[in-house]
Amino acid sequence: MTSQENASNRMLAGKCLCGAVQYAVADEFIYAANCHCSNCRRTTGSAFKPFAGIERERLSLTKGEDNLLIFGEETVHDTHCKTCGSLLYSVVRDGAFVHVAMGTLVDEPAIRPTHHIFVGSKAKWFAITDDLPKFEEHVVNAEGADG
Ligand SMILES: [Zn+2]
Ligand SMILES: [Zn+2]
Repeated sequence: MTSQENASNRMLAGKCLCGAVQYAVADEFIYAANCHCSNCRRTTGSAFKPFAGIERERLSLTKGEDNLLIFGEETVHDTHCKTCGSLLYSVVRDGAFVHVAMGTLVDEPAIRPTHHIFVGSKAKWFAITDDLPKFEEHVVNAEGADG
């Protein structure tokens, strides 16, 4: 394990496909999961969306703040690059947290997705082949999340 100081100082870079939008986020994600809901499938075009959650103020845009496509409301929305369409992160939980789309991270985060959520609406053509806990919708309680 790295020391707490190292962990708290580490920043991760992330960017969209075309590079017009870039961000920095602390490597201190509180949780991470693979979401199989239909919204996450559509916004990413994938079978599921691996995302990692952290307090909103711990993520900052380092480039392209004027190049965003915001889909949704002020306190709950998806943030895309206006040019290439990449989903970078979602603002959730009344604006208090962001869910970073882990595929846009440039650097490797310490966290790994620990469970599958919204498996109840999973794409029928996709089979989950790992042994991570599965939840029909949200994680029912904190017990299985981070121990
Ligand atoms: Zn872009
Ligand atoms: Zn979802």
